[in-house]
Amino acid sequence: MAMNWRQTVVPDMFDNDIVPFWNGLKQHKFMLSRCRHCGAHYWPMALCPKHEDNTFDDMEWTPTSGRGKIFAWEVVHKVKTPAIEHELPYALVLVELDEGPIFATRLAGRSPPGLTIGLPVEIAYEDVPETGLTLPLFKLST
Ligand SMILES: [Zn+2]
Repeated sequence: MAMNWRQTVVPDMFDNDIVPFWNGLKQHKFMLSRCRHCGAHYWPMALCPKHEDNTFDDMEWTPTSGRGKIFAWEVVHKVKTPAIEHELPYALVLVELDEGPIFATRLAGRSPPGLTIGLPVEIAYEDVPETGLTLPLFKLST
């Protein structure tokens, strides 16, 4: 039996500094790293370049809107993995989050028609009981 791709995303894959992001998802919160000084958000976690001598102590994980717009997209029509053929076509997207960072993800379900740059999207939490994780897919905003 082929494994569902969702079960291939496991906690062992994450660096320690990204664990708060995944813990937030479990609570259906979309967390980004934010600078305590100027409020700028970053993904993935990074030091804010606007201040000299910044350290990771100057950054904090904080819940955000989980909203943004399509920055770029691609619809996948063909795969070499039989286990996910039934999900075709699906859309891979770069989301420009309202807070600024670009987030790479996939739209939940089959790709809707009419995707365009600038279309508003929002987080679509997908719980995966087998791994205990929640995946940060996105969907078109209604
Ligand atoms: Zn800053």
